[in-house]
Amino acid sequence: MLALPDEILPTNSIVKKISLVVPVYNEEGNITPFLQGIIPVLESITPRIGYNILFVNDGSRDKTKAAILAAASDNSRISLINLSRNFGKEAALFAGLCHAQGDAIIPVDVDLQDPPHVITDMIERWRLGAKVVNARRVNRDGDTWMKRRTAQAFYRVFNTLSDHTIPHDVGDFRLLDREVVDVICRLGERSRFNKALFSWVGFETDEVQFERPCRTAGTSTYSYWKLWKLSLDGIFSSSTIPLRMWSYFGAGLGVVCLCYSLFILIRTLIFGVEVPGYASTLIIILIFGSLNIFALGIIGEYVARIYTEVRQRPVYIVSSRHNVTVSSHKA
Ligand code: UDP
Ligand code: MG
Repeated sequence: MLALPDEILPTNSIVKKISLVVPVYNEEGNITPFLQGIIPVLESITPRIGYNILFVNDGSRDKTKAAILAAASDNSRISLINLSRNFGKEAALFAGLCHAQGDAIIPVDVDLQDPPHVITDMIERWRLGAKVVNARRVNRDGDTWMKRRTAQAFYRVFNTLSDHTIPHDVGDFRLLDREVVDVICRLGERSRFNKALFSWVGFETDEVQFERPCRTAGTSTYSYWKLWKLSLDGIFSSSTIPLRMWSYFGAGLGVVCLCYSLFILIRTLIFGVEVPGYASTLIIILIFGSLNIFALGIIGEYVARIYTEVRQRPVYIVSSRHNVTVSSHKA
């Protein structure tokens, strides 16, 4: 696990430095296997590259912090940011991006579902000039059937509604050049859906492919409920179509209602008052009542996000740092 510090390597052998950003939440059993898997890969990259592994401890309640500190005491390339509580992976990853110092940054999950060998291919593409290198999962056997189906549905809905598309089956695991990360960190929004922000910023993008394995240890913290909330965050923070569609829908429905009202008026004038009509009246009230509530719900989703933005609370709070250089703009 010991690595040569950058300073004692011949300067011409270090092309550039990469930072791995690793958000962790209750992952004590995964820290050692992760480091054992990733360090040999980083050390074997040719031409040689400087690297740093930045863990973001997202309020873990197990021994994750102790495991990282033990590893960091042996290896000066390992650093740690502790968040004051669990803010969620999106916030933890953002914290890591804002603190990472590398010329390129790669967010990586600690459970080895993002295979270390893919990093070598990413760096190769980056050296050829790409500013973003996406890692596409060609096989999601590590995920359940249900998770694969819901993920497909999400990508379809997102790409239909959003003003920019996100690539299918590309997670947070990707290489981002320093220039790209600087832009992402300057985006001031509080409700952050990283995948959408990563593709929104653009830049020259290349792609590598990989097969996604199962977790090394522990279980995923993403329940279907959490994934549902994350998907809503993604869609509502990247699209205003759900809000605007009601004006078109309302206008269309208004025309239909006007025609129907004229029909009833004319029929009443010709044939007189007709008492029956309980069923049709009730159906109309129920349909319009539900549509009203649904539209209000959509408006509520946006108002809630506006509220989050105007409060201007930080996306994350750092409680302590180990082996991390802090520049002035970090929270
Ligand atoms: N994670 C985090 N904060 C959270 C949940 C997860 O930092 O609130 C980290 C977790 O430790 C892991 C990564 O995010 O390194 C991906 O989490 P997980 O494996 O549970 O997600 P999945 O692979 O099922 O999408
Ligand atoms: Mg995982």
